[in-house]
Amino acid sequence: MMNWHCITKEEAEKTLQTSIDKGLSKKEVLKRQKKYGLNILAAKKKKNIIIKFFNQFADFMIITLICAALISFLVSLLHGELDFVDPIIILLIITLNAILGVLQETKAEKSLEALQKMSAPTAHVLRDGIITSVDAKELVPGDIIYLETGHFVPADGRLITATNLKVDEASLTGESHPVEKEADIVLKEDALLADRSNMVTATGIVTYGRGTAIVTATGMNTEVGHIAKLIMEDDTPMTPLQKRLASTGKALGIAALLICIVIFIIGILKNRPIFDMFMTSVSLAVAAIPEGLPAIVTIMLSLGVQRMAKKNAVIRKLPAVETLGSATVICSDKTGTLTQNKMTVTELASIHGKERPDSSYSQLLLTLTSLCNDSILQVTNKGKHSSVSATGEPTEKAFILAAYQCGILKPQLDLNNPRIHEIPFDSTRKLMTTVHREASGNIRSITKGAPDILIPKCTHVYQNGREIPMTQTHIKFMEKQNQSMAERALRVIAVAYKNISSSDITNYNPSKRSVSNLEFKKPLESGLILVGLIGMIDPPREEVAEAVLTCQMAGIKPVMITGDHVSTACAIAKELGIMGSGDLAMTGAELARIDNDTLVEQIHRYSVFARVSPEHKVRIVKAFQAREEVVAMTGDGVNDAPALKAADIGCAMGITGTDVAKNAADMILTDDNFATIVAAVKEGRGIYDNIKKAIHFLLSCNIGEIITIFVAILLGLPSPLLAVQLLWVNLVTDSLPAISLGVEPAAKDIMKKKPIPPNKGMFADGLVFKILFEGIMIGFLALLAFIIGIRVYDSQVITDPLLLHGNTVSIAAALVPNIGRTMSFAVLSLSQLFHSFNMRSEHSLTKIGLFSNIKLLLSFFVCGFLQVIVISFKPLANIFKVVPLNAAQWSVVLVLSFLPVVIVEIQKSMPKK
Ligand code: ATP
Repeated sequence: MMNWHCITKEEAEKTLQTSIDKGLSKKEVLKRQKKYGLNILAAKKKKNIIIKFFNQFADFMIITLICAALISFLVSLLHGELDFVDPIIILLIITLNAILGVLQETKAEKSLEALQKMSAPTAHVLRDGIITSVDAKELVPGDIIYLETGHFVPADGRLITATNLKVDEASLTGESHPVEKEADIVLKEDALLADRSNMVTATGIVTYGRGTAIVTATGMNTEVGHIAKLIMEDDTPMTPLQKRLASTGKALGIAALLICIVIFIIGILKNRPIFDMFMTSVSLAVAAIPEGLPAIVTIMLSLGVQRMAKKNAVIRKLPAVETLGSATVICSDKTGTLTQNKMTVTELASIHGKERPDSSYSQLLLTLTSLCNDSILQVTNKGKHSSVSATGEPTEKAFILAAYQCGILKPQLDLNNPRIHEIPFDSTRKLMTTVHREASGNIRSITKGAPDILIPKCTHVYQNGREIPMTQTHIKFMEKQNQSMAERALRVIAVAYKNISSSDITNYNPSKRSVSNLEFKKPLESGLILVGLIGMIDPPREEVAEAVLTCQMAGIKPVMITGDHVSTACAIAKELGIMGSGDLAMTGAELARIDNDTLVEQIHRYSVFARVSPEHKVRIVKAFQAREEVVAMTGDGVNDAPALKAADIGCAMGITGTDVAKNAADMILTDDNFATIVAAVKEGRGIYDNIKKAIHFLLSCNIGEIITIFVAILLGLPSPLLAVQLLWVNLVTDSLPAISLGVEPAAKDIMKKKPIPPNKGMFADGLVFKILFEGIMIGFLALLAFIIGIRVYDSQVITDPLLLHGNTVSIAAALVPNIGRTMSFAVLSLSQLFHSFNMRSEHSLTKIGLFSNIKLLLSFFVCGFLQVIVISFKPLANIFKVVPLNAAQWSVVLVLSFLPVVIVEIQKSMPKK
């Protein structure tokens, strides 16, 4: 293995046959991609389809069913009746269920993969002399890459340049602090991984500064590649709801076993044949278990995640879907999320007050801010017309575009005043400084930043070409101007400079024209000369005011968190409706002074946090959480990661967000828009509601089945439903409507309700009683059908008058209740189909309209049709042990099946407490 840290960058360039100035050619890249493969860590081996299939059986409910099938087969064997049909059908239906499960799992995996691709890291790379952005997995050894703050290091590399570059390599070296990197040194061979300061390693995080590097290793050949197995990601965890359902399923299974035992004992006490009782118990176990439920919940979650992705909210962690529905506070950044992040300079001011754009003060302000600036101006000439654009950070772009309007060209300025040192902008310092050598050889540093931070660092003001000592009057005047601009929602940046003598720099090299790590005898950002202020407007996003209103109606408190001045923040917060009449604003400085208990006690009164640093965000999240709020928090920078992790729903920006922020988040907003969070909350509430409907529906149906059988046995009647019939209902005719309920459009008033308390179980709010009531209703209807069937139709088959008038036990013994069973089977299935419409809303069906969920209507007809076929088509009827019904019998079935709609409609129309 090559020891890249022991050679110079030029030697590395030669060894890797690349060019530091131009990078690789496209052709060469393709060739190397073939040779080295993709720059990815070998993914964890995917479960193969057979294992996936067998995994489906590792479910408590399914195991119970298999045992039931086996035992029923053995018992029938002992009983001397070789009945293969029942167990085979049970196994067949379970297998079908498993296949559906595998298909579903694969589909869900695919959609998650697709989502992950959307948030895959990109890399800036130099190829054919042009900087382009590529998928990080396309990198090859020899590529020249650009490293920027907040981004992951995409591959191992030897540094070519490093400006204040610091990289956090904790995941690899365990070193908890970011390490400072240098490009120009050569290290000893035995330097430890953690000490190789001229190298960067894949998965490192650039926490400060920037640099360039030659890629030395990619994919599994990187340092992390060697230990890749250790850091493979976990499986997708189950959501809280899925976990709760799994335990509900288990509880139901155990309850079913207990009921079976009770029934069995009752049967024996009533002198019923053991074999019959056994088969009945098996049916009961089948009836009690909501076999389709886990699959249906997974389907609903993954459908929901796909719908959200279409609305620009990419869910990274599945549990977030549920948490979203419970959100009570949304803390949002201002710039770019609430506003458009399209800054335009609108005002310039000096020590004399407001300046015209062509005044000498304005010219100086724009010249300085163009130099102390990292954005790039692009002027394209098309015939007579030339168009201008800029790339970079919006605040910075605004400066060079305004300068361009006044005839000041940044590229020319840069050429004449090369930058020789810099302290990059960061949102904690809120300042940026660059040092330039002017054509005359003089050295000048320029600092721009938040006025309230920069003005105290100034000792002089610039006035008519002279630098005069700053007085209290000057300070007051400038602060007043700052305040006045901020109150008009402008972002204000103060601009200052200072002349530096070369003797004040220890390692000054007059011939060097590029940025290097110079050492200054006095701090750069003090003793400055204030030139003036620049105000710029960043209009709010159009859709945000409405989204804020929606939030407030939905019982969610929107909160603005910003690095901007408190007056700017309040002006925009008022315009958007975030700040109401009683709401307060707090600054970062105040936040730092206040202790945690007071913060927790007071925080609900504040809707704006201004001049805060990313570090403050964690305290804000925790204080809200201490008040039992469920907090969504947005963020984009590296420093935002802890707050994103601490929040219940961390939302990273898709466009401006760094890899680190995205990695820490539960959800990514691909359009950086506040309104998207609100849309996602709505979607989350809808999904929760629909899952609740499906659970309500399936459980009420299961209870109905249990009641039918249990009461029949108590009455001494034969078992009204067989295991296969119950499985058919549970897995086929119940599942489709349940899934269709999952696509029920969100209720119109869903954002007018309070958030769902997170610790309140799904079954709170009387749902258990509703389920029980509806279960009893369905159970009695199916039982009624059975009794009508055996009393009116089956009993005609019995000729023995003694038996006809005899006790029920002997009827049970003599009767072959074919028509009764068929009728109760039909009523059970059809009444559940009708009942599914009851689940759609807590409002009357007449209110929401029959056609507003076409999928449910379709499921109704498909399942209804299948049910009729199973009964009327002889070969199928034989398998399900049913007989075709005549018109009169069908009429009874239909009337009974429709009754749930009538009953529940009456119940819905009754006044609620
Ligand atoms: P928000 O938190 O609402 O998204 P923000 O993240 O844009 O706002 P910061 O970028 O932290 O806020 O900016 C905070 C302050 O720093 C600004 O109000 C401005 O005064 C100053 N500032 C912003 N960008 C620059 C820059 N490029 N150079 C110098 N100062 C800047």
